[in-house]
Amino acid sequence: MCKHFSFTGWGAFSLKLNRGHVRDLARQRIERLFSLANQAVKSDAGLANRYVELALKISMRTRVRIPRDLKRSVCRKCNAYLYPGITSRVRVHASRSPHVSVTCLNCGAVRRYLLEQDS
Ligand SMILES: [Zn+2]
Repeated sequence: MCKHFSFTGWGAFSLKLNRGHVRDLARQRIERLFSLANQAVKSDAGLANRYVELALKISMRTRVRIPRDLKRSVCRKCNAYLYPGITSRVRVHASRSPHVSVTCLNCGAVRRYLLEQDS
């Protein structure tokens, strides 16, 4: 009886630890895949897109969020890896509300980011 209780206790504990470890590994793999995409995009944009696709899959399966700055380099519409001057066109607009527009050269989707104003 007593033995049984201590056994289930440890079981739950190690399961919890293991889950945290999996998420850690997933985070590392996602970051690695993005750095691979960053290197690959200059010679093979299709390969870069495959790395991103893998990173998105890992993120969905493990529910690990992709860091915001990395997520900005993925087209929301077609999931292409966006690299300024190669797979995306970046324009800074300094009008009334200063913003940056990023155009995906794969599908043409445009995203706008407001620039933080220095005050
Ligand atoms: Zn796109």
